[in-house]
Amino acid sequence: MITIRLETLLRETCLIPALAGFEQKMAAYMQEKFEEMGYEVTIDLFGNCIAKVEGKDPEAEPVMIFGHMDQLGFLVKYIEGNGFLRLERLGGIPEKVLPALEVQVQNREGKMFDGLIGVRSHHSTPPEEKYVVEKYPKLFVDIGATSREQVEELGITVGSPVVYAPKFKRLLGDVVSGTSMDNRIATSVVLELGYLFKDNPPDMPVYLVGTVQEEFNLRGAMMAARSIKPKFAIAIDVALDGGTPGSEGTTHVMLGQGPVISHYNFHGRGTLNGTIPHPAMVRLFERTAEEKGIAFQRYASIGMLTDMAYVQLEGTGVYGIDIGIPCRYTHTPVETCNLQDLETTAQLVFAAVHNMKDMDLSR
Ligand SMILES: [Zn+2]
Repeated sequence: MITIRLETLLRETCLIPALAGFEQKMAAYMQEKFEEMGYEVTIDLFGNCIAKVEGKDPEAEPVMIFGHMDQLGFLVKYIEGNGFLRLERLGGIPEKVLPALEVQVQNREGKMFDGLIGVRSHHSTPPEEKYVVEKYPKLFVDIGATSREQVEELGITVGSPVVYAPKFKRLLGDVVSGTSMDNRIATSVVLELGYLFKDNPPDMPVYLVGTVQEEFNLRGAMMAARSIKPKFAIAIDVALDGGTPGSEGTTHVMLGQGPVISHYNFHGRGTLNGTIPHPAMVRLFERTAEEKGIAFQRYASIGMLTDMAYVQLEGTGVYGIDIGIPCRYTHTPVETCNLQDLETTAQLVFAAVHNMKDMDLSR
């Protein structure tokens, strides 16, 4: 059963632009919701939004549950004399989806301007260019301006954020599609957990966190962990779906089949980091899923990582795990998920936290 509350949280947050480093609107939204629930909220120096849920035992070791608020996108790199904007990318942008895409440009006051990524008219495209993917430095944004001065008068400068024009759509059944499902699915679940803990408080203090800059350098969550000092951490992020044409055999993860326990992720390109979850956390989630009758899926693959990779290394180490929500077409403007998976992820994480007081902490 999908609650209207969870769908509303997802719809509203998918429509909030929050490029990595510019998460203020998302943080303000989460802060407002958490404060309505009665929690104490802090926004730290980096912009992480941290809500504290009191535990029945205030002396117990704290748990940090987090999802990143930011999304990938671009920054304005250069403003042409005739008013077109050139872009620098921020995060893993799939270049083949960019031409003719609607975007929004944010000015210094946070006001959004509609724009689109221009593309050579089909009628004048020579045959040899028709099947070529343009690299992003060749692309430009058209906001309808005719001069650089006009752009600057709007408060748009070099460094202004540019994101996919925010969208949210409900497809058949409980399938939903939109911009920045990565990772508004998680921030929605983190908010939903706030409502669930209000009615049924945890044993240990729980910090519900919307983190920043995951799509940039994956380390914004570290700053939250340094103030919270969690002993346990649960990161929620996308898990790659293997159910679309061409993705068969890559992963068993399927939309609508439940939350995903990540057994291994690693980013082999540059960052050389990833997460092997603490076995105690894997056992906790397996036991909880079995007790509650919640179906779950498993994932183990290189090619991606989450900010858990850094959080688990804080202090003398953190009992960490990545919990995934199945998602198709990641990093495109049509990321697609199933609302059922958000609901069951919230239920599983909630029940796991309630099972933590008697968990076996051995490796
Ligand atoms: Zn993500």
